Amino acid sequence: MGGFFGITSTRDAMVDVFFGVDYHSHLGAHRAGLAAYSPTVGLQRKIHNIQNAPFRTKFEHIFNEMEGTSAIGCISDTDPQPLLIRSRLGVYAICTIGIINNADELIREHIEESGWGYFDSMTGGRVNTTELFAALINRYDTFEEGIQNAQKAIDGTANVLILKEDGSLIAARDRFGRLPVVIGRREDAHAVSFESFAFGKLGFEQIRELGPGEIVHITQDRISQLAPAGDKKRICSFLWSYYGYPSSTYEGVNVEMMRYRNGAIMARNDEKNGAAQDIDYVGGVPDSGTPHAIGYANESHKPFARAFIKYTPTWARSFLPSTQAERIEIAKMKQLPVRELIEDKDLLFVDDSIVRGTQLQETVEFLYETGARSVHIRSACPPIMYPCKFLNFSRSNGEMDLLVRRMIQELEGKAGLDHLDEYIDGTTERGKQLRAAICEKMHFASLEFQTLDGIIEAIGLPECELCTYCWNGKE
Ligand code: SF4
Repeated sequence: MGGFFGITSTRDAMVDVFFGVDYHSHLGAHRAGLAAYSPTVGLQRKIHNIQNAPFRTKFEHIFNEMEGTSAIGCISDTDPQPLLIRSRLGVYAICTIGIINNADELIREHIEESGWGYFDSMTGGRVNTTELFAALINRYDTFEEGIQNAQKAIDGTANVLILKEDGSLIAARDRFGRLPVVIGRREDAHAVSFESFAFGKLGFEQIRELGPGEIVHITQDRISQLAPAGDKKRICSFLWSYYGYPSSTYEGVNVEMMRYRNGAIMARNDEKNGAAQDIDYVGGVPDSGTPHAIGYANESHKPFARAFIKYTPTWARSFLPSTQAERIEIAKMKQLPVRELIEDKDLLFVDDSIVRGTQLQETVEFLYETGARSVHIRSACPPIMYPCKFLNFSRSNGEMDLLVRRMIQELEGKAGLDHLDEYIDGTTERGKQLRAAICEKMHFASLEFQTLDGIIEAIGLPECELCTYCWNGKE
């Protein structure tokens, strides 16, 4: 994943871009970068590795190192960016958020057709996705033509932010609007952001979100549309249920409020089905399970409690252990129990989703070891049946990474693939078998998933505007 922020102002823009980008730190933990333009120095750029120290620490000296009245920056979970590009369109800085699945094919075509094209190879022989996207743009006479054609050529998703050598910005939302791009205005400036909440603290008023595929050119005092929005939107549902920041609002729907509604719907479903009614405490698997659990507890009138609490003072989110075993060990060390809330208690925990299930299994074991009588698990979204192919959403690498798919394979092998819709539904025989098999394997007292209708109701947008591919495979 990743996120970006950009500003073009009549005043110094460095403080704004520093905080604006910092507010996207929850979206990525690999690289971060800033590019700035000032009339005296021109374009400048800095990139840092943020795997073991947050953006704020790595860029704290930026005010002595760069200057600008316009600037862009990003947090990236993949490649170093923004890149500075010299091309027939001039010199510009660019960052992109998303994924290109057909990168190899596009690189081959580009080199064959241009006859001279080349790309910097990164570690592992991969090409920087943003460099590839820029190369596709540079084949055309204008930025709008280039971005539109690049968007059509890629199999994947790309939100784009460009800082031109005259200090103006170009922002483009991906063709199907899977990720947000919002525009804000202040007396002296315009800004572009992935996360809308970045505006409030910096004194910007949000003007609007870009539509799918829309491209705009932005100066300090003007926004001009270079390409209109398309009519097909498929915004990622996980923005609300998992990775969006609680104070953010996408398409007019606030993340925290959606999570309360989502939890409440799950509580009503449990009540209707008579499931997990004798519970002492409801809790969330921190952090993103917590608001879903608050919604569940409020609706069910069962007390919310934090039976275990994450130790965060010395384990910043940006610290990324290199192996899965290390990740599990560190997650374990971070979980500190409140024994009074666990011993001899029947507990229900809501997790934002169940992907591999490894960490959740560790958590449940730890609760039993601490004396819990029973641990019931609720997933705030339907069973994840398909890995995301539209974003760089790196929680699984393939279908067999997904707990639910592995269990279906164990239950009936390949034949199960013909019945995925039954497995999603907890009222069918196959749906019941799947839940029972996971409970047995992972020592859950009971397991239920939010329904597809339930999560769509909690978001509150028409189903046709949402991407639900992870759950039902519909594109
Ligand atoms: S496949 Fe899943 S994670 Fe990917 S865009 Fe769709 S809903 Fe989001």
